Amino acid sequence: MHELSIVISLMDQIEDVARVNKLVKIDEIQLETGVLRQVIPEVMQEAFESVKLNTICENAVLTILEVPALVVCNKCKSQFEPAIDDFLCKNCNLADVKTLKGNEIILKAIIGDK
Ligand SMILES: [Zn+2]
Repeated sequence: MHELSIVISLMDQIEDVARVNKLVKIDEIQLETGVLRQVIPEVMQEAFESVKLNTICENAVLTILEVPALVVCNKCKSQFEPAIDDFLCKNCNLADVKTLKGNEIILKAIIGDK
């Protein structure tokens, strides 16, 4: 259930943003999740539904946007989209890569009312 801990820390961020922007009600939260984090959207939604009660997000919708992974081979510098457990470069036959995308969880947008 690592989705639950993600949602809980997310709520802290959202409440900070709401306070700074003087929002009284949140309508929608857009979240970008990198596929390498292996977040299950349905589990994330369930966690959100249970955590949002009695918060500023009580009536908010969570929109999850999955970000595909992108890695670059350290040897030949070619970039490719890896499978979740296969980081092998097709050119070099080596799994020596740097992750460029797919490892992040980003609060992309918070839509609310003042
Ligand atoms: Zn390579």
